[in-house]
Amino acid sequence: MARTTPPRPVDVEALFPALAAHRRTATRLHPRQGAPTAEESSIAGPLLWPVDAPWPVCTAVHPKGRGHLLSDVRLRRRIHAGARGREYTDEERLLLHGTAPGRHHPDRDAVHPLPLLAVAQLYTRDVPDLDGPRGHDLLQVFWCPFEVHGTDRTIDVVLRWRRSGDVGAVLTPQPEPPVAGREECVPTACDLHPEQVVEHEYLGLLGEDLQHEIAEWEEGLLDGDDDEDGTRASAPASYATYEEYEAAMAAARAEEPEEVDYMSDLSIAPGWKVGGYASWHLTDPAPVDCSRCGTAMPPLLTVDAQEYDGASRSWLPVQDGADDPGVVDPVGVHLGRGLMRIHTCPADPAHPHRLSFQ
Ligand SMILES: [Zn+2]
Ligand SMILES: [Zn+2]
Repeated sequence: MARTTPPRPVDVEALFPALAAHRRTATRLHPRQGAPTAEESSIAGPLLWPVDAPWPVCTAVHPKGRGHLLSDVRLRRRIHAGARGREYTDEERLLLHGTAPGRHHPDRDAVHPLPLLAVAQLYTRDVPDLDGPRGHDLLQVFWCPFEVHGTDRTIDVVLRWRRSGDVGAVLTPQPEPPVAGREECVPTACDLHPEQVVEHEYLGLLGEDLQHEIAEWEEGLLDGDDDEDGTRASAPASYATYEEYEAAMAAARAEEPEEVDYMSDLSIAPGWKVGGYASWHLTDPAPVDCSRCGTAMPPLLTVDAQEYDGASRSWLPVQDGADDPGVVDPVGVHLGRGLMRIHTCPADPAHPHRLSFQ
């Protein structure tokens, strides 16, 4: 099923024509749990990987046998999903108890090469904003699932571009690391439903005049809300059940005009995406420039812990239910404080990529 982002609540370029110069497209990937094939774009699906090509490995020196078995991570997620809305059975409790992290592969020492985790593969035919080396139509993304690399002690990402037409026999089965340092480094297999949207530059990176105009417009909207009924509705202090609370919140949402603000609704889409802009809501904006040639590097792939949250609710696809955990967090990956971006050099995609976090 295709996924469709609702139209933005206002036409922001009509309000602020200067924003037209700060527009980019992004392709929202809309991951949903599934069983993709090597011929499809996916997260954590099988890759279109030539049978005779060496699988990338991590050769950094760090513990590689202690952590979560990937099979345990998957079992835990299946149990949690199956038990949603009810108590765990005794059997489920026992199974969960058996999936604790530990020293699973004591023979796997620090220098032992570790197969990298296949995180995503994206075909340019599905993802219009995927911009790689000339003639390459397939991006394959890997990482080492231990947050211990480099001075920032973080995840190590590897990108491979291919011409899919050059791939003959496909490697099967495909290697994977048996253990992950953190379970939030392990993606769950997802089909993708790519959709191109328009984004506008992060507020703090717009010119001061434009920022000021947008702030004044937002203040005007809030004043308008207050004039309607004098005060903002205050919620009762407590509800007998969660269902009552949800019903009350839904009723309140239906009555109130949707609040609109630039940051949440009009600039940057939430969730996994290719292209578009980077949000700097947790830190001051930091330039991400190519270490080889100094060119500013836009985000190629954004990895997000959630497909939307309370603030970015207006980006929920029309086909999806608002409180479906399979829509909010289908992938199960949480890096940084929720967001990791892989930036590549527009002057030469072969230059080393860089990561940024929020
Ligand atoms: Zn590693
Ligand atoms: Zn460069």
